[in-house]
Amino acid sequence: MVQTTESNNVDGILQTALWNVQQTAGRLGLNPDITRRIVEPAEQIRSVIHPQVPNGEMLHAHVFLVRHNDVLGPSKGGIRMTAGVTLNEVTGLAMEMTWKTSLIGVPFGGGKAGIRYDPALLKPTEKEILIRAFTRGVRRHIGPEVYVPAPDMGTNDSDMGHIRDCVSYSDGKSIPAGCFVTGKPVVLGGIVGRREATGNGVAATIVAACERLNKKLPGLRVAVQGFGNVGSVSALAIAEKGATVVAASDITGGTYCAEGLDVVKLADHVAKTGGIKGFAGGKEITNAQVLEADCDVLIPAAGGSVITEENAPRIRAKIIAEGANAPLTPQADEILNAKGVFIIPDILCNAGGVFVSYLEYTQETQRDQMTRDEVQQRLYHRMTTTFDRVYERTQQKHQPMRHSAMDLAVTRVVDGIQSRGLLP
Ligand code: NAD
Repeated sequence: MVQTTESNNVDGILQTALWNVQQTAGRLGLNPDITRRIVEPAEQIRSVIHPQVPNGEMLHAHVFLVRHNDVLGPSKGGIRMTAGVTLNEVTGLAMEMTWKTSLIGVPFGGGKAGIRYDPALLKPTEKEILIRAFTRGVRRHIGPEVYVPAPDMGTNDSDMGHIRDCVSYSDGKSIPAGCFVTGKPVVLGGIVGRREATGNGVAATIVAACERLNKKLPGLRVAVQGFGNVGSVSALAIAEKGATVVAASDITGGTYCAEGLDVVKLADHVAKTGGIKGFAGGKEITNAQVLEADCDVLIPAAGGSVITEENAPRIRAKIIAEGANAPLTPQADEILNAKGVFIIPDILCNAGGVFVSYLEYTQETQRDQMTRDEVQQRLYHRMTTTFDRVYERTQQKHQPMRHSAMDLAVTRVVDGIQSRGLLP
């Protein structure tokens, strides 16, 4: 089996990332050499793996690993497994990770990896074989001081467990020296609350935005695109705080209920059947209708570039919380800013995952064990204080939250470059 399909939106993510950083360099008045230094990725790896699976077939998968920047620490970012992932997409996502780790204040740089294969086509054993083949193939580019992977679209904690096992097996040791991968099962040195961290962080930024914008959580109508890890946890967390989730979608379809979906039942249905399609607690609607639903808050939590200049004019949400990476194209961003939509940018909104990955990294390095309460409190504190810093600059500069978040993130990376010194 070979997976070669290219998705249409992949270049979009890199274009969006480049547009964001170029705009920021202009606002901050950076000189062209420094701008080039922060834009160009430090390292890009592209390879093909061909593992054999139990039925005798070979899987042929293109794999990518990009370390965009390591000025502030080892490159950090998830592994995306989709049918259409490309080097451009991984590069754009790695660049976004540089700004995200900088903004949330963890000692990491930006990286990302990609495995071009549709995980839905793989049996669990086949996926494990593919993950192990990927790990062996890029082993020399992974390490606590180099690049530390984590889950992203199409990968999960079990996959990270296989990576951890593959590394210690190759090294002939029960445990690797330091943290090679985050988002692992807790029993293998993972941290409690990592799986929910991104979604809980998204919910924390929505609550912070509502406080600043004088919106009450009870009665707040929320629509969620993508009901995987980030989308489902965000929906459960915001519903628990009193909001009403009126619409949700995933790759199988969408569901709507004006009085509010029972999100716990929806999550159970997805766990049992593999998707939203067929959920009895709502009316069937399309994925496009979910994005354009009549709601106060829209959480795009699937792929990138899903809101473009074409559908942006029809978006009715007053707040967009970017659970996904780069869900808006630059044109859509401009249209929505002009409409006065309050956008919580991805590098802030979904940074909870990498923050708790940092806690996992320090826990593993120090052989410590943090409790769920400790993790939740530190996550909530870091998300809300970072939100406040971004909001404060937004008020001072009269500019969108994305500009403020990028200004703060890029400034920290540039400070890092200058503090290290420019000599070779
Ligand atoms: P996931 O694989 O668990 O879930 C993705 C969801 O999106 C699934 O429900 C899938 O069915 C749905 N989906 C895919 N294509 C769709 C489409 N065309 N229309 C509607 N739904 C669609 O992935 P995840 O980890 O939840 O990641 C989602 C997004 O959040 C990605 O953009 C990812 O980069 C970003 N993100 C994830 C994390 C993390 O910790 N997992 C951290 C930061 C950012």
